[in-house]
Amino acid sequence: MNDRALLRDPREEYPAPPFPKQPQAMPGLAGNMDPVPDHGEESYRGSGKLAGRKALVTGGDSGIGRAVAIAFAREGADVAISYLAEEEADAKKVIDLIEAAGRKALGLPGDIKDEAWCRGLVDKAVSSLGGLDLLVINAGRQQYRESIDELTTDDFDKTMKTNLYALHWIAQAAAPHLPAGASVITTASIQAYKPSAILLDYATTKAGIVAYTKALAKQLIKRGIRANVVAPGPIWTVLQPSGGQPDEKVKHFGEDSDFGRPGQPVELAPVYVLLASPEASFINGEVYGVTGGKGVA
Ligand code: NAD
Ligand code: MG
Repeated sequence: MNDRALLRDPREEYPAPPFPKQPQAMPGLAGNMDPVPDHGEESYRGSGKLAGRKALVTGGDSGIGRAVAIAFAREGADVAISYLAEEEADAKKVIDLIEAAGRKALGLPGDIKDEAWCRGLVDKAVSSLGGLDLLVINAGRQQYRESIDELTTDDFDKTMKTNLYALHWIAQAAAPHLPAGASVITTASIQAYKPSAILLDYATTKAGIVAYTKALAKQLIKRGIRANVVAPGPIWTVLQPSGGQPDEKVKHFGEDSDFGRPGQPVELAPVYVLLASPEASFINGEVYGVTGGKGVA
């Protein structure tokens, strides 16, 4: 085998649309998707980049958070994941994979729209892992509404609470525990820069996550802690068929990326690993796009 045999065309590496119609009730289970997303279960290989680290990943049961949890564990970190109680089946798989990597796993089911729970989940992670030096605030709510008339106060409130208030509550509760060298990573979206008409509330929160993280980065670096943002484009996760997009859009999800397909969660894992690792020692307050070509400027 020569080196060329190791090269693959990234456009053809993962499934492309059309996808089957597959609506699920929110928050949905990754295990019920067709095709099942690739979170790195079989493919992600670690190389000790996060040896001995202690991580909390919100929304770590499925999608991007699951890919991050698997990668962090295989890079040598102990990992706590937060998720909703309905997602126990997805979470169990991740916990098994973290433990199979020889690392400590902690499952934290609960609703992050609740301030007391956000503070409690940080405390639980800190006491169970014996500290915290990696914080990935990734959980999110995306429910499309065709028109401004349909976007209720209740919708708006739930999206703000999940995507912005919880970010603040968790970051605020975690900050006193984070030592110099720690890393905070948030998940925003291309929606912060190129908002879709049907995601008024969601896109607003994603722009907020970018601003909040950049401001937080300026505070935390004074204590030697870095904070950065990852801004994904279309990624094949259960967020989309569980109310994130209309069924017809799910069928064609990712078709208009330069790759003709959506990204898979595992394709984001190396970016989170880099931002988490000491190799990113001069990277702070930045936004890393993984958008499939559309960009974040
Ligand atoms: P996902 O559904 O697999 O993950 C989202 C997770 O958020 C859920 O698993 C759930 O555990 C958690 N969550 C939601 N509401 C919660 C609540 N009230 N309490 C506790 N946990 C809650 O989907 P994903 O696409 O991996 O989403 C992860 C992040 O990526 C989100 O912030 C999302 O906005 C962002 N994102 C996704 C895409 C995409 O195309 N999939 C694109 C850009 C950004
Ligand atoms: Mg989930």
